[in-house]
Amino acid sequence: MAVRWRLAVTEDCIGSGLCIGSSADHFQLVDGFSQPVTAEVEPGHDVYDIAFQCPVEAIVLTDAETGEPVLADPVAARVYGQQRA
Ligand code: SF4
Repeated sequence: MAVRWRLAVTEDCIGSGLCIGSSADHFQLVDGFSQPVTAEVEPGHDVYDIAFQCPVEAIVLTDAETGEPVLADPVAARVYGQQRA
């Protein structure tokens, strides 16, 4: 299990504000679009759930050491309860 996650928002962001409203600790609005507050975060349910709920899948979580996508990781899915195909 990853010790740190790398957090990114892609250019697919439509500026819905969902992630910012849910977690201003992790996301901020810049020129109408979301950006991570920090490039790396502690693994946790809050950021995992928000990444999963982004309506356009613009939030990308990767293992900071391996670069593997967290939302497609079956081990993370067992811990956090959801998995992206
Ligand atoms: S939830 Fe997704 S689309 Fe909405 S602001 Fe956040 S990254 Fe952008």
